[in-house]
Amino acid sequence: MTDHDHDHDHHHGLLELRGVSRHFGSFRALDEVDLTVRAGARHAVIGPNGAGKSTLFGLISGTLPVTAGTIRVDGRDVTRLPVHRRVGLGVAATFQHSSLFLRETVLENVLLAVVRRTGPRNAAIARAHELLDRVGLPTRHELTAAELSHGERRQLEVAVALGTDPRLLLLDEPAAGMSPAETARLTELIAALPAEVTVLLIEHDLDMVFALADTVTVMHLGRHLTTGSPDEVRASAAVQTAYLGTTMEVTP
Ligand code: ADP
Ligand code: MG
Repeated sequence: MTDHDHDHDHHHGLLELRGVSRHFGSFRALDEVDLTVRAGARHAVIGPNGAGKSTLFGLISGTLPVTAGTIRVDGRDVTRLPVHRRVGLGVAATFQHSSLFLRETVLENVLLAVVRRTGPRNAAIARAHELLDRVGLPTRHELTAAELSHGERRQLEVAVALGTDPRLLLLDEPAAGMSPAETARLTELIAALPAEVTVLLIEHDLDMVFALADTVTVMHLGRHLTTGSPDEVRASAAVQTAYLGTTMEVTP
């Protein structure tokens, strides 16, 4: 970062990564990644398996420490802050591997997130019901999370993440393992989130990515390959090359 950054405030994103790396031993899972996510964006991160997408989310949410680089949320350096402090600053994540409490009820799972923000239990319960409505689970609150279908669990994870009132919502492959109908419902739910919630979405389902995203970042082998509009990314030769021989395909 340079000393005339303050001249470019309008270029500052809600989330800014500069030179962010994560090494595992000598292996560079992420290698000097720069990324800017502007407030209000619907920003997708795509890339073949092993590109470093989930690692990136771990670094942003704070579950994994960086090897090098700087992470800023709304201009504030959060690189060394623990997860709960970042949650306090409005960063919430759903992870590729579920973090639900399967033996607790659906309502209790959301409450556990909400009570950190909302004082009296009655208010928290009302808020939890509101969030379950929003994610399409209004009648499931008394079931245990274990009794939900796979798709419903992912919907619940979104409600739990929203329970902390995030400004930045990180979603790691929320449609993984979902049926087409469940994916369509989830896409609608994400599309309907208020603009105050900035969304950073990792997703393999490119139909979902292109339905939701206004900005797409492509990663490959731990590197930031390109960021652009969905149309730019679709047309990019570099992107086509990165996907050749992988399990994902970019279709025109
Ligand atoms: P993606 O989510 O894009 O599929 P990941 O971020 O999960 O990719 O992984 C990126 C690379 O880092 C992969 O090669 C993976 O094997 C490696 N990796 C991830 N976590 C660890 C870890 N804890 N220890 C060693 N290697 C890891
Ligand atoms: Mg992943």
